[in-house]
Amino acid sequence: MRSFDCSELKSILDDRRVSTGESVRVLHSHDESFHAPVLPDVVVWPHTTEEVSRLVLWACRSKMPVTAWGAGTSLEGNPIPVQGGMVIDFNEMNKIIAVRPEDFQVDVQAGVIYKELNKTLAHDGLFFPPDPGAAATIGGMIGNNASGSRSVRYGATKDYIMRLTVVLPGGDMIAVGNRARKSSSGYNLAALFTGSEGTLGIVTEATLKLAGLPVNFMAVRGTFPAIRNATDTVYAIMRAGLLPAAMEFLDANVVQVLNADKGLALEENPTLLMEFSGYSEQGLREEMSFVEEICQANGALSLDKGIGPEERARLWEIRHYTYESIKRYHIGLSPLIMDVAVPLSRYTEMVEFSKKEVQDLKAYLFGHAGDGNIHVHVMDDPQDKKRWARVEKATHSIVMKALEFEGTSTGEHGIGIGKSRFMRQEHGESLLLMKRIKALLDPDNLLNPGKFFP
Ligand SMILES: Cc1cc2nc3c(=O)[nH]c(=O)nc-3n(C[C@H](O)[C@H](O)[C@H](O)COP(=O)(O)OP(=O)(O)OC[C@H]3O[C@@H](n4cnc5c(N)ncnc54)[C@H](O)[C@@H]3O)c2cc1C
Repeated sequence: MRSFDCSELKSILDDRRVSTGESVRVLHSHDESFHAPVLPDVVVWPHTTEEVSRLVLWACRSKMPVTAWGAGTSLEGNPIPVQGGMVIDFNEMNKIIAVRPEDFQVDVQAGVIYKELNKTLAHDGLFFPPDPGAAATIGGMIGNNASGSRSVRYGATKDYIMRLTVVLPGGDMIAVGNRARKSSSGYNLAALFTGSEGTLGIVTEATLKLAGLPVNFMAVRGTFPAIRNATDTVYAIMRAGLLPAAMEFLDANVVQVLNADKGLALEENPTLLMEFSGYSEQGLREEMSFVEEICQANGALSLDKGIGPEERARLWEIRHYTYESIKRYHIGLSPLIMDVAVPLSRYTEMVEFSKKEVQDLKAYLFGHAGDGNIHVHVMDDPQDKKRWARVEKATHSIVMKALEFEGTSTGEHGIGIGKSRFMRQEHGESLLLMKRIKALLDPDNLLNPGKFFP
């Protein structure tokens, strides 16, 4: 542990908001991944941009690493303070500053949990669409450029960022972007900070674009004889001009664990969960029969379907259990969740390849199929060197295949620790430009060091 003068920090924040306590440091030493925990030296809870600025200035003068912390739900070790230092926890910086229904916008502090935000926005018939599932903060979603099951229709976090307030290394506060619906002015700096995992600046406030809440829903759950039948259906539905709001793939292993964990009796086959939203029930009914036709043409074995919010909740319920059910099914093992994305035309090959690569492992495939995004969730023991080497070998070949298909090593979970070894392969010469940008903004490498770059 570094030695430093805590009283200086306590002159910036009151006592209660500065902690070097063991249990607090342990809580901020790990995310939801298997990556080894590392304790920070100190954890702080600011309330304002000015306080963040003073903290960052203090840290930079003390040459202390600074890592921003949202909810710690990342899956690639993104917020683990691998070089110790100060963790800035945004939990208490969680105000919704202004809702602007007339502009479809909201101003928030970075620590707002997106699910809480959506509860407030629902009063105005609005919502912030990216939905990573876990109880993530807006700052963490911006950090990782998170997306989720509705990205096939609504896009990722980057598509909803209008303006950011950012604290730079050294403590300077800047605002990037504006509130206009379009702009051709200057470099898109808001985009640069989005997905930068807190390595370039600390986001303290954001103006987010919003969407109108859909009026009605239709959902279909289809099972298929083989992966190919299910994944080909994804393409066929989109090619037919239908606009799914969400389209998720689950392999038979996932369904088997859901049955065991939740006492369900679902058919243990490759499964597609589909959601459509619209205005009239009649319109949704027509869409439903078109979807059914396409599923049947692709060999569907069974179709369960319904219209209305309750039916949607019933048909989708299982998707929300996936992560926890898999975890509970393998008590004592750790998850490694690979997240690659490929062009839609290569999705079927990507899923089939991944399935083969992990056939001897405790592995589960699911993902945001409409985005060409597949998650390979392996449960194993990182302490068992031989077994873990096998898991890592599978990760490696799955990522390499995604890159061969002109895809990406991560569709949404970010680089963190886990994917940095693929950065050179994925970005080639442009990695040098990324390094130059990092050196320009953070010459002492104090913001979330040890991430991103191999
Ligand atoms: C069950 C489960 C399901 C998930 N499903 C999805 C999914 O469908 N899609 C998806 O995209 N992700 C998913 N995730 C991953 C994770 O929830 C998201 O990446 C989420 O955006 C992380 O938010 P967080 O608040 O927990 O951020 P953290 O994990 O705390 O931080 C994320 C990164 O952002 C940085 N950061 C945090 N706050 C700031 C800030 N204010 N300024 C600058 N940088 C900051 C951190 O340093 C870190 O690098 C899932 C995770 C779990 C556990």
